Amino acid sequence: AKYVYLFSEGNASMRNLLGGKGANLAEMTGLGLPVPRGFTVTTEACTRFYNDGKVIAKEIEDEIFATLSKLEEIVGKKFGDPENPLLVSVRSGARVSMPGMMDTILNLGLNDEVVEGLAKLTQNPRFAYDSYRRFIMMFSDVVMGIDRMKFEKLMDEIKEKKGVSADTELDAGDMKTLSERYKELYLKEMGVPFPQDPKVQLIEAVKAVFRSWENPRAVVYRRLNDIPSDWGTAVNVQEMVFGNMGNDSGTGVAFTRDPSTGEKKLYGEFLMNAQGEDVVAGIRTPQPIDVLKEINPDVYNQFVEIAEKLEKHYRDMQDMEFTIEHGKLFMLQTRNGKRTAQAALKIAVDLVNEGMITKEEALLRVDPKQLDTLLHPQFDPKALKAAKPIAKGLAASPGAATGKIYFSAEEAAQAYNAGEKLIILVRLETSPEDIEGMHVSQGILTGRGGMTSHAAVVARGMGKCCVVGCGEIIINEEEGYFIDKNGRRYNKGDWISLDGSTGNVYGEKLPTVAPEMTGYFGTLMKWADEVRVLKVRTNADTPRDAQQALKFGAEGIGLCRTEHMFFDSDRIGAMREMIVARTEEQRRKALEKLLPMQRSDFEELFRVMKGYPVTIRFLDPPLHEFLPKEEEDIQAIAAEMGITAEELKAIITELHEFNPMLGHRGCRLAVSYPEIAEMQTRAVIEAAINVKKEGLNVVPEIMIPLVGDVKELKYVKDVVVKTAEAIIKETGVELEYRVGTMIEVPRAAITADEIAKEAEFFSFGTNDLTQMTFGFSRDDAGKFLEEYYSKKIYEFDPFAKLDQTGVGELIRIAAEKGRKTRANIKMGICGEHGGDPSSIEFCHNVGLDYVSCSPYRVPIARLAAAQAQV
Ligand code: PEP
Ligand code: MG
Repeated sequence: AKYVYLFSEGNASMRNLLGGKGANLAEMTGLGLPVPRGFTVTTEACTRFYNDGKVIAKEIEDEIFATLSKLEEIVGKKFGDPENPLLVSVRSGARVSMPGMMDTILNLGLNDEVVEGLAKLTQNPRFAYDSYRRFIMMFSDVVMGIDRMKFEKLMDEIKEKKGVSADTELDAGDMKTLSERYKELYLKEMGVPFPQDPKVQLIEAVKAVFRSWENPRAVVYRRLNDIPSDWGTAVNVQEMVFGNMGNDSGTGVAFTRDPSTGEKKLYGEFLMNAQGEDVVAGIRTPQPIDVLKEINPDVYNQFVEIAEKLEKHYRDMQDMEFTIEHGKLFMLQTRNGKRTAQAALKIAVDLVNEGMITKEEALLRVDPKQLDTLLHPQFDPKALKAAKPIAKGLAASPGAATGKIYFSAEEAAQAYNAGEKLIILVRLETSPEDIEGMHVSQGILTGRGGMTSHAAVVARGMGKCCVVGCGEIIINEEEGYFIDKNGRRYNKGDWISLDGSTGNVYGEKLPTVAPEMTGYFGTLMKWADEVRVLKVRTNADTPRDAQQALKFGAEGIGLCRTEHMFFDSDRIGAMREMIVARTEEQRRKALEKLLPMQRSDFEELFRVMKGYPVTIRFLDPPLHEFLPKEEEDIQAIAAEMGITAEELKAIITELHEFNPMLGHRGCRLAVSYPEIAEMQTRAVIEAAINVKKEGLNVVPEIMIPLVGDVKELKYVKDVVVKTAEAIIKETGVELEYRVGTMIEVPRAAITADEIAKEAEFFSFGTNDLTQMTFGFSRDDAGKFLEEYYSKKIYEFDPFAKLDQTGVGELIRIAAEKGRKTRANIKMGICGEHGGDPSSIEFCHNVGLDYVSCSPYRVPIARLAAAQAQV
């Protein structure tokens, strides 16, 4: 294999092999733009480096040096030759640009001899020694991991001694002294002298780039952005051009459009007499790009022309780096620029209007996950940048929340009723009783639990900012305080802020700004809807959630979790009574109370949904979530049931399960107690009939959960059908309804052909299907999955992103077998994966009819569904 390519040998289509930066440098070279010459060591060399046990094979090393010789010939300079030295920059460059990867090393090839040569050659000793001391620092920091601050300190000492404040005020002698001190520091830190052989410098730098592919920041970034670890990174070695050669030299970065607003206007900054990192490092304040027009109009005009050419060529907003050496312009990089969600929408729509791209292409230009930030309040970016997190948990539901902390739902509700508008609920974990407290809060923070814990699921449903599983803080609910990782204590009523997109917790009040739904959002969504074939429904348990989802474009309800309808304080009692009932009579008494509430809830839901399909899932309460825990609740329920508190406690003990998620839940409950299914059927059918009388045509879809065997389904379905038919006959109103099932137990997936004999539709419950396929609990897996990520056993959370190989295979089998029995069986997904772009693409490919997700993910799903089609 060929592992090293000159820029002149590549092009933009070789991104996988050369990385984004390398491919674009090659492409620009091909376009005849002024690009300093160089070569790229491929991503395959990186993969090989890891396969060989983190060493560079002799064969690859030889190829690097052979290509280096070619480069020497092309540029007419020699590596390590003091008379006429070639100096290079070394940069990483993966397929997609990736923060967390290795920073740039500049001026590589300098040593004690070459620096003197360079000083003579350029007749500019200050420049030569400035370049050398920079190189020593970058090499030490980036390749050897010596703290950069130690070098900065030496620099500060010299400045202080001279009584100057800017680097530019140091002269050649100071720079020389500095490079001596830097080398001494290197020797002290490393125990060996700074490497003088440029070839050693080069190979060490290449290795450092490869190693940086596996540094923790890069690994985390990849996981968050679905980037496989086997891509590897390329290394770009490029002839140096110098922006620090004097006042006719400089360096800068620019975007062809404003990356934060999308405005069509060259946007960027530069510094004269500086090298690359000065612009980013903020040591000196760069000047806006417009100023370059005055300093050097020729270079400015040339740059504008190149920027336009590049944007037209790549048909996307470009992010470019350039250097000016003695008044001559060089392009060091171009890439499709990163942008905010707002800018992404505007640019995509503008490019279509400018005739540069098609609508389909525009749809691919926006990352669906990015849309999220447009739907929730956001922190003021400046304040966020200045703030320091006090802890980090799992980013369970996006948004920015700032408020006073309360440690129980009751306290939160009290504060709310007393006029407090900014509240954050802090709990060890949440349970159904906390719903009201969650409702009145801006955000929720929990100490335990994973991405599908109660708090996470409910908060996403509500569109509330939520950080879960924040084990870094110690929460004392009883006494109303928590302690952060630095030992600082936060009491009830203190301010904190939560970033639901990063999981960061801040110990202060951060200002937020309201979301803005611009016209570009609407335009792009309309295009998405024109293209996609997958329908998008929502998971909603309340009319309010349903309303919100409709605003976001939902086309039905794919999952209404009926047990969630009993969270409110006036209902939870009756629900618990039903759960703990020991006789059919007791149970029927509790069900009597639940019936009217449930019926009117359904009526309202049907009305809100205006004839769109509504799937109602029958009760699936994991018992532990619903058993009463507090003494006063126990007293009240016992009184209601006419038994003593002691007797009730005995019942609760008896109901205790070791594995509640694998316990008496879902259809198992209806098999034991058919009267529950009877009541729910009555509520659904009567509600539909009532609404039908108002002129709205609803076809309710009744969904039986946790089915593993067709006989279970048949048993419950018979109860449903018998009850429904009786009511229909009684009322004399014609009503269509369907009975289907969730596919969420592996056995159901494998026997889907049998299940389809009874089921009129399937909905894949991938939360349970994932939990049961992997055999680990959705509530507990968060605790050990981190280990799995760091040991590269898993690269992502299978509860957030569908495991297509395993769980996905079960879906494929079930879909195929289901269709065999019932050719046009309707199929959807309602697990959390229904809102995840890559999982949505999978659903599209398997031929599901719809995905269903929480309201705030509906726009994401609409766009992802369109992308799957394009
Ligand atoms: C599922 O298991 O995927 C599902 C949607 O049901 P629940 O999350 O309520 O168990
Ligand atoms: Mg389930």
